[in-house]
Amino acid sequence: MSKQGKIKNGNNKAKHTKLLNQKKNKIREAKALNKQRLKTLITKSNLSKQDCNCGSGNLYGDCCAIAHKNIEMVTSAEQLMRSRYTAYVLGDIEYLMKSHHSSTCPVKEKKEILKWAKSVKWLRLEVLKTSNGEVGDVEGVVEFKAYFQENGVEEVIHENSKFNRENNHWVYLGEV
Ligand SMILES: [Zn+2]
Repeated sequence: MSKQGKIKNGNNKAKHTKLLNQKKNKIREAKALNKQRLKTLITKSNLSKQDCNCGSGNLYGDCCAIAHKNIEMVTSAEQLMRSRYTAYVLGDIEYLMKSHHSSTCPVKEKKEILKWAKSVKWLRLEVLKTSNGEVGDVEGVVEFKAYFQENGVEEVIHENSKFNRENNHWVYLGEV
């Protein structure tokens, strides 16, 4: 074998190793991605079989998950309120933005809200009173108490929230 042939062979080998490594990396990446997808699926299906955080007594899959999947499925102001509480618990900031009326939506504080929602421990929700906000109504008011623990201290948000409709579905307008 000539010297040149050896170099050529060496180059080919290097090229081959590089290609092989690229292929291996691609497989590894695909495997990791699949694992991640599977994990999300399992988490979601596990969540579906758990009691909903909003305290309705129904499973998440039969309760707020319906709203989280498609907000247009929400039929009442109370249901929207509940799904927003659960979105806080799950840190679903996109849903919190979508379910907020565009005129009052705190888009700029999106990151801070998410950070805060994830930093506190959500305890429970109590819906105290609902007026209007049913199918056929244009607006509704829901009085609720949302309990959470922040820095080890139990806190409560007690609010009369106003809801109306925008883009063909219920949205949160703000405090009455
Ligand atoms: Zn729920």
